Amino acid sequence: MSFTIAIDGPAGAGKSTAARLAAKNLSFIYVDTGAMYRAIALGLLRNGTDIENKSELTETLGKMEVSIRYVEGEQHVYLNGEDVSGLIRTERVSDMTSRSSAIPEVRAKLTSLQRELAARENVLMDGRDIGTMILPDADLKIYLTASVQTRARRRCLELTQKGEPCSLEEIEKDISERDYRDEHRETAPLRQAPDAVLLDTSDMTIEEVVAKIVSLAQGRMKS
Ligand code: C5P
Repeated sequence: MSFTIAIDGPAGAGKSTAARLAAKNLSFIYVDTGAMYRAIALGLLRNGTDIENKSELTETLGKMEVSIRYVEGEQHVYLNGEDVSGLIRTERVSDMTSRSSAIPEVRAKLTSLQRELAARENVLMDGRDIGTMILPDADLKIYLTASVQTRARRRCLELTQKGEPCSLEEIEKDISERDYRDEHRETAPLRQAPDAVLLDTSDMTIEEVVAKIVSLAQGRMKS
């Protein structure tokens, strides 16, 4: 039997960085489900698909195959065999992802892939609906969050470090809009599972977040 950890929470709470490091520390496979939704969004953008048009969307989705592979311990995501890991972190893709991930057909396409991965190995999976929908029986569930202001500041710092311009006000607005869409969509809205441990990372360093996840996991594995 595999041991499963589900980490959910809004964008920019430090989920993926903390999850990746905690998984490494625990020797678990890290599954970033956001990357899978991003790969689909990239495909929809490339195709110029009108996501409001059901038959067009179904046809495009039918032609898309998403898979993941691990290269030197890092997750890579593939769209129809092409490694698109380096192409999915743009604002354009983020925006399309937040829209297209609300569509039931898009979610259905990725559900089985995510469950299959968790059935095979010890995984630490992060996303929006992992503890509530994908792995409702996960051995440990964590809901990781931080204030909108903290998340916007972190995102701005990331952009500045990459030499890209950043407007704190615009980023805060963007994050709030994305939160709203994730929390209010009909299918698999972002929500804390009743049995998830709440971790507010607003005043925590990444090292503290990782240490907390690892200690929670070790505690559960012993019990
Ligand atoms: O985690 P990340 O920010 O890469 O996710 C991008 C978007 O994908 C989120 O804003 C959310 O709309 C969607 N997503 C989702 N369900 C998941 C993971 C991501 O709806 N399990």
